[in-house]
Amino acid sequence: MTQILTDLTPDLMPELKPDLKPDLKTFADLNLDRAMLDAVAKLGYDEPTPVQEQAIPQILAGRDVVGCAQTGTGKTAAFVLPILQRLGRGTGVRALVVTPTRELCAQIDEVARICARCNGQHVVAVYGGVPYEPQVQKVRRGVDLVIATPGRLLDMIQRGDLTLSKVEIIVLDEADRMLDMGFWPDVQRIIRKLPEKRQNLLFSATMSRGVLEAVRDTLHDPARIQIGEVAMPVDEVEQAVYPVTAEQKTELLVHFLREQKPTRTLIFTRTKHKADRLATHLTRHGIKGTIMHSNRTQSQREHALEGFKNGRYSVLIATDIVARGIDVEGISHVVNYDIPAKPEDYVHRIGRTARAGASGEAMILLTAEDVHELKAIERLIGSEIERRDLPGFTYDHRHIPESKDVPKRPGKLLYRGGAQRAMQRGFHFSKKGAH
Ligand code: AMP
Repeated sequence: MTQILTDLTPDLMPELKPDLKPDLKTFADLNLDRAMLDAVAKLGYDEPTPVQEQAIPQILAGRDVVGCAQTGTGKTAAFVLPILQRLGRGTGVRALVVTPTRELCAQIDEVARICARCNGQHVVAVYGGVPYEPQVQKVRRGVDLVIATPGRLLDMIQRGDLTLSKVEIIVLDEADRMLDMGFWPDVQRIIRKLPEKRQNLLFSATMSRGVLEAVRDTLHDPARIQIGEVAMPVDEVEQAVYPVTAEQKTELLVHFLREQKPTRTLIFTRTKHKADRLATHLTRHGIKGTIMHSNRTQSQREHALEGFKNGRYSVLIATDIVARGIDVEGISHVVNYDIPAKPEDYVHRIGRTARAGASGEAMILLTAEDVHELKAIERLIGSEIERRDLPGFTYDHRHIPESKDVPKRPGKLLYRGGAQRAMQRGFHFSKKGAH
């Protein structure tokens, strides 16, 4: 996945290498047929984007899909190509894309028409603000795929100019925006006009509780796809920062796991080596954990994930790269044992908990070296994360600067070297910790 690769910090590069080959997919690897490969060539795409790589096979397999992906990630082709391939030849409107705006409708229409031409299929865009009649005429001439905004679509249905009784696949695009713009009652009215048996695809830039609740009864065992640099944390995740010295970090984690006995905890470390070391420590303290990183074989990873899912292990220690694919229900806690180097990774990490409307907790174990990364995270999510002490834990001492006391542009030395060098430079640290 080139997009992810280019983002990597150098220290993570060696870690990714073993995974590199299987990840580099072409469109042909995604089970697209000749006609859709021709369409890809017409669109001028050389290789699939991550959302295309993930969504196309799932959609072709007939699964419902929930995709957290923003516009700009290539999501249009990610659903248009497999939909057209699945539809093949037939009569009547068999696929429907519902979008919040005319602009989006037109954009999707443009891509879909290029692709449909390769298959001898027809696409019509149905949206308001333009004359009704030309759109109806196109519909009457025969259409396989309709791309619509809710208002005009309902209008056409009510006037008897269009029926949805043959729809096999529905896409709700930018679901969060449709919800925000108050279109949801219209969307529900549209959904009620569809056959019971159908494939449901949902794309949304954010996955808030509202979106998840709105579609809970519509989707059947959906495959989840999470793409994008910035996806805001789901509302249900309770986030907290636990300031601690590097020396006491593991001790604090052990105390937390032993005292609070969380049901399913996903722990992130920055390197494979740290993951291994931490696992050894936890085992020594009687905590049943397993590891997932790129030095583990595929079967070891599957074993780890299966054990974590079925409760044999209450703790899974992972690095960011391999964790991208983890989709386990019921993760109660995500622990940032090491703060992520990139703020976006924090959002990806904590998105592993509080799935499907359940609640979850995300913790950051914060050492003095990490304050700049924390600040970047807080800037990204747009709020300050609460600082907490772990009840019953004896802290030796802490020297954690308040993030507001940290200058905006850290010098390289301070960034890399951590607290001690920062103090040598006359930096002011709070004795109390970051409260
Ligand atoms: P979308 O997220 O679907 O709005 O797509 C964003 C932009 O990416 C559009 O300009 C597409 O033409 C372009 N695009 C989509 N998929 C690919 C691809 N596989 N390779 C190159 N460009 C792409």
